[in-house]
Amino acid sequence: MATVIDGKGLAAKMRAEAAKDVAALKRAGVNPGLAVVLVGDDHASATYVRSKLRDCEECGIASFDYKLPADASQDEILQLVRNLNDDPKITGILVQMPLPSHLDAEEIIEAISPLKDVDGFHPTSLGRLVRGLPGLRPCTPAGIMVMLDEYNIELAGKNAVIVGRSSIVGKPMAHMLLERDATISVAHSRTRNLDEICRSADILVVACGIARLVKGDWVRPGATVIDVGMDRDEDGRLCGDVDYDDVFNVAGAITPVPGGVGPMTRAMLMSNVVTAARMQAEA
Ligand code: NAP
Repeated sequence: MATVIDGKGLAAKMRAEAAKDVAALKRAGVNPGLAVVLVGDDHASATYVRSKLRDCEECGIASFDYKLPADASQDEILQLVRNLNDDPKITGILVQMPLPSHLDAEEIIEAISPLKDVDGFHPTSLGRLVRGLPGLRPCTPAGIMVMLDEYNIELAGKNAVIVGRSSIVGKPMAHMLLERDATISVAHSRTRNLDEICRSADILVVACGIARLVKGDWVRPGATVIDVGMDRDEDGRLCGDVDYDDVFNVAGAITPVPGGVGPMTRAMLMSNVVTAARMQAEA
């Protein structure tokens, strides 16, 4: 039976650490402030934004909530981002994704100052990751690295397989694991023999958005399985990309859904807000 990696508990610990860091920054005259931009009235996005604002409150971070209508123009959002870049009260900027389809998300992400890019999606942030330079890292893979370290999962020389190659999860995850000397394979929708490749993994990170794709016989006994997926099963219940019940008896360690990667992503955002405020104070 696998060790269950407790993302929820670990995330609470990270928020407590962020709160201490925020208090220390404030004593030094630095006030972290997060601007959260929500465009449109997507229910899930609005829920995510509310929980991020709650996390800010818990950590003592000032938050500034910007709600724009679903038909907001590209120029309107770009202008708002530029204003936030210039506003000293704001040390972190987050534009909630996905944006309505008439908007160019790439251009909006690129408009955010890299010093305030707390989501870590800006090309400068991703470029610094690839170059092995310090900077703001995307929250989901950065939170996964914290979990792996907390559970003393050995990485150097191990085979890591990542299923999914998105710019927010799969690709940065690959670079973070590579930075820690794991040997990386990245699988995607065109990959052949996916089950075989997954079986080669000592560390298997699954982020493909397909409910319960990974089965018990895809997993090497004792492997660490990190499930990023947030999917709905046929009954509409939240589940991951990994068939938890099937994999639980094979894996050495596994993250549950919910209570695994999700809370760590949120906690990592608070940690990035602290890092961004520090970076700006030192710039
Ligand atoms: P995405 O942008 O939709 O990318 C999905 C990736 O999976 C793509 O690279 C795609 O390949 C690959 N893929 C699709 N079908 C596949 C298959 N049959 N076999 C192998 N690979 C396949 O997704 P994402 O944003 O990375 O998110 C992935 C999942 O994680 C979703 O369930 C999302 O809700 C969840 N998520 C959770 C958190 C969290 O905090 N818990 C954060 C972010 C995302 P191609 O590139 O070839 O299309």
